[in-house]
Amino acid sequence: MRRLSTRYIAGEQRSDALLRGAQLARAGYRVTYDQLGEAVSNEAEVAEAVVENLMLLADLVDGGLELNISTKPTQMGLNISEDLCHDSVAQMLDTAAMSGAFVRFEMEESWTVDATLRVFERLRARYGATVGIVVQSMLLRTENDVRQLLASSTQPLNVRLVKGIYVEPAEIAFQDYQAINDSYLRCLRLLFEGGAYIGVATHDDALIAGLLAMLTEHPHWRERCEVQVLLGVREDLRQKVRDSGLPVRVYVPYGHAWLRYVTRRLKKNPKLARYAFFGLFRRGEKIS
Ligand SMILES: Cc1cc2nc3c(=O)[nH]c(=O)nc-3n(C[C@H](O)[C@H](O)[C@H](O)COP(=O)(O)OP(=O)(O)OC[C@H]3O[C@@H](n4cnc5c(N)ncnc54)[C@H](O)[C@@H]3O)c2cc1C
Repeated sequence: MRRLSTRYIAGEQRSDALLRGAQLARAGYRVTYDQLGEAVSNEAEVAEAVVENLMLLADLVDGGLELNISTKPTQMGLNISEDLCHDSVAQMLDTAAMSGAFVRFEMEESWTVDATLRVFERLRARYGATVGIVVQSMLLRTENDVRQLLASSTQPLNVRLVKGIYVEPAEIAFQDYQAINDSYLRCLRLLFEGGAYIGVATHDDALIAGLLAMLTEHPHWRERCEVQVLLGVREDLRQKVRDSGLPVRVYVPYGHAWLRYVTRRLKKNPKLARYAFFGLFRRGEKIS
């Protein structure tokens, strides 16, 4: 698993992430960095994660790299209190605002969505374009959340649109591929029409085709979007999109909490899980 994890994470150290980020930047990609970690249940660990992010921002400045980081609400203390989570991200945003950085506040399991949106709205009111959010098209509520995000503030809105990686019950989430994709494209259109900046985060050819169709219809929307992909996933697609002239941002995770992250990614792709298993016995197995 550790050997296989190198496909999906830059490494355990911040320096590994910076190295990978610099390589990607040279290859014409934008980058967002994510210090792995979630479901933190004590304040000392939250503080540690904040300090690590502040050091990451400082190193990005020193390295002349784009300052863009992603962070999970429960790593910032959401499971302890909304105020702690708010204050932790605000500490990062104070630095980010001074250095022209951007912080993406991510979305986790459905039971965290209300609290995450509340904290995000407080942060957005204070930090505007420096902070962004994620919404998940698989949740039945998301179209409505998008409408509310668009209506609730005059501050700029920066949204990463994803399908959602968590297993959610049928009462609150679309279960089949087509329904999730239809919801994704409805949310995408709403966000464009509402004036948001959108990180179109997907490796799905059908959704990229849907995006391109909207951009053909409304060429001026191009300035308000970028495609976002995970490190190690569909590199063919990411090159194709980059070569077509649309900006592509690669999500570069790093840190010690790699096992949970890699396991989640493997569950998305059973073929890779099979290779992972064989890889335990056959060194050098090629994964494509
Ligand atoms: C930049 C970025 C940030 C994200 N942030 C969040 C977040 O904050 N919250 C959240 O819930 N989810 C997040 N996700 C995950 C997202 O919700 C989806 O689970 C993930 O992107 C897979 O969905 P898809 O749109 O690529 O479509 P899918 O239909 O799942 O996949 C499309 C194609 O890509 C391939 N593919 C997908 N995943 C993998 C993989 N791991 N390995 C190899 N091939 C793969 C599939 O085989 C398929 O061919 C993020 C995704 C990205 C790209």
